[in-house]
Amino acid sequence: MASKYQAPRGTFDVLPADAHARRRVEATAAAIFARAGYEPIATPAFEDTELFERGVGRSTDIVRKEMFTFEDKGGRSITLRPEGTAPICRAYVEHGMHKLAQPVKLSYVGPFFRHERPQAGRYRQFHQIGVEAIGTDSPAADAEAIALLDDLLGELGIPGVELRLGSLGSLDSRRAYLEELRNHLRAHEDELSRDVRERIDANPLRAFDADDEGTRGVMESAPTLVDRLEDEDAEHFAAVRGYLDAAGVGYTIDPTLVRGLDYYTRTIFSFVCDELGAQSEVGGGGRYDGLIEQLGGPATPAIGWAVGIERILLALGDQGGKPVTERRVFISFEHDSGVGEQAMALATALRKAGVAAEFDLAGRGAKGQLKHADRIGAALVVLLSSDAPPQLRDMESGEQRQVELDRIVAEVAGSAP
Ligand code: AMP
Repeated sequence: MASKYQAPRGTFDVLPADAHARRRVEATAAAIFARAGYEPIATPAFEDTELFERGVGRSTDIVRKEMFTFEDKGGRSITLRPEGTAPICRAYVEHGMHKLAQPVKLSYVGPFFRHERPQAGRYRQFHQIGVEAIGTDSPAADAEAIALLDDLLGELGIPGVELRLGSLGSLDSRRAYLEELRNHLRAHEDELSRDVRERIDANPLRAFDADDEGTRGVMESAPTLVDRLEDEDAEHFAAVRGYLDAAGVGYTIDPTLVRGLDYYTRTIFSFVCDELGAQSEVGGGGRYDGLIEQLGGPATPAIGWAVGIERILLALGDQGGKPVTERRVFISFEHDSGVGEQAMALATALRKAGVAAEFDLAGRGAKGQLKHADRIGAALVVLLSSDAPPQLRDMESGEQRQVELDRIVAEVAGSAP
């Protein structure tokens, strides 16, 4: 049946087959986070617009073009969250988490919103799983966070994943490099895309991400930051690599790596996957040592990442989508014969005993109910009728035998699986 209503452009419904795959991804992540001491946190789906303007950066694509921003009834500007790090930093400051034992290690999962041009792997509402380790500048924290994402992608069995690693240096040491990069861009101004040209002053690093041919050509000869890191930043980067080696995490250094958010300092990384086509990044993140101070909190170094659940599912292809709901017992009963209540009572008792049980809700005849039980994959069928004792049917063998009504729960609950 066609309806004139459809999910808004760039959004999608999560249907049950897909929901199971998502649950598996979330459960795998939750187990990995728990083992490493990352505690769950949840923040609201919308925040004051200014949090993202200050946090993500006014010159980023996200803030310039992609936020769902509107006024609430009190005339305040609010924005559906485009990312999770700024809100978590806001929560860290708001709840005085700097007084807790540091670092505070957090994990989250939820929907995020960006007004982008929808395409495979790029949506207007999408879902991220992420972690933040706040209150540490140790390179071991960078490596630990990266290893968790590596572990997650590995445990989920995502094929063809590659980790790209880079360093942006600290904000101070980046200044000299950015000037050098600006000079390079200005020298080739007419070969650049308009977007890049307009941001030479505000955000020259974005040029590394451009996909137009002109800019790409210019960037081939651009100076790179990794070779110009100041001593402490270079030491930090070397230590991160050492810890990653110790954790057995493979990576390639990518001197052209940049990320779409302004807050990154030092370590940045991106996990890309062959299976994903144009939107090849499955997840990534980095260190953001200046962000919390930028948001009005105490100077607090931190590292984090986010991975897109839809990209994970895309990379897994069909493998992720197997339904896992257990369909163990189906209770078939004669409608309009007074045994409906028995079916209801039996289903309730079975469920209380921990057995997945369903009964007919569609007024089917006896044959139709058996067919339905088969279709939903029930292992056992209980047959109730007004003129014969209850029967228990094994759907695989087709064997059927008489059972006592008040023994059914014990028999079914006792018989594995
Ligand atoms: P970011 O927050 O931009 O660093 O992105 C982190 C991850 O979120 C990416 O690697 C993607 O997996 C996912 N992601 C970001 N934007 C979108 C989007 N519009 N649609 C689907 N996934 C996205």
